[in-house]
Amino acid sequence: ATPAALMVGVGKGAESGILIRGAEYLERSQKINTIVFDKTGTITKGEPEVTDIVSLNELSEKQIIEYGGTVESGSEHPIAKAVVNKMKEMNIPLTTPEEFESLNGLGVKAMVHGKKIYTGNRKMMKQFGIDVRLAEQNMERLESEGKTAIMVIIDDKIEGIIAVADSLKETSQMAIFALTDLGIESIMITGDNEKTAQAIAKKVGIEKIIANVLPADKAKEIKKLQAQGKFVAMVGDGINDAPALAQADIGIAIGSGSDIAKETGGIILIRDDLMDVSRAIRLSRATMKKIK
Ligand code: ADP
Ligand code: MG
Repeated sequence: ATPAALMVGVGKGAESGILIRGAEYLERSQKINTIVFDKTGTITKGEPEVTDIVSLNELSEKQIIEYGGTVESGSEHPIAKAVVNKMKEMNIPLTTPEEFESLNGLGVKAMVHGKKIYTGNRKMMKQFGIDVRLAEQNMERLESEGKTAIMVIIDDKIEGIIAVADSLKETSQMAIFALTDLGIESIMITGDNEKTAQAIAKKVGIEKIIANVLPADKAKEIKKLQAQGKFVAMVGDGINDAPALAQADIGIAIGSGSDIAKETGGIILIRDDLMDVSRAIRLSRATMKKIK
């Protein structure tokens, strides 16, 4: 490979906001046949909003949001921000939760007004041995709509559900289509549940999903794909994504994401536009063609 042609390629990328960390990444990009996308903040905007509040017993919707939101006020997660925003919107005063604990990939717990509150997903409630059958029908309905539904448990009893929805980035669907056109398979990875993931994947034209993945296990899933002989790029934005970006044959950090993701990525997409993934691949292929 002539270094000059590679340098031209790297320069061309930079002009359109595709920062290639080293010429070897440009060389490797042409071999990519599988791209794994993080869901939240990568395919979706990562700014969810509360769409539904369901009370399963005698509490009001306002009380469900008040308990759930008070616990969530201790968390920085996008879901937590959505619930706290809703609380403000409904003029519910914020009190400080006591004995707050955040459980990565599961949810949050704390004491509120002397009651023990769990707010999180099925996996969390299973871990705490909570019977959530009463919520199941509503959970499935909300999830099939592509919403992320979390359960509000008060003193070990399921009381309600809060659903949030995150909108797709404008070019996500087009970006997946462009990659399919280049013969590349797109996969979506997420800590979210299977149903919600499936609904969102369908909207953007992704057939394969890897759901219910704890943040610590994302890199393992990349490794599994590599063991199947795939040459894998991972696209992500978050702090949680850094190990998976590092494990992939090429890590692609996107847009407004965290600094840690950017430090780990071999390619950094400055604009928050997933179309730049296929642009990077095409640039790589064109550059390598010139070299041969
Ligand atoms: P993602 O892969 O979408 O970035 P995370 O690993 O951050 O997801 O979270 C996975 C799942 O864990 C969420 O979909 C949600 O069900 C649950 N979860 C995580 N944090 C919270 C929280 N603060 N409140 C409620 N649920 C949470
Ligand atoms: Mg994320």
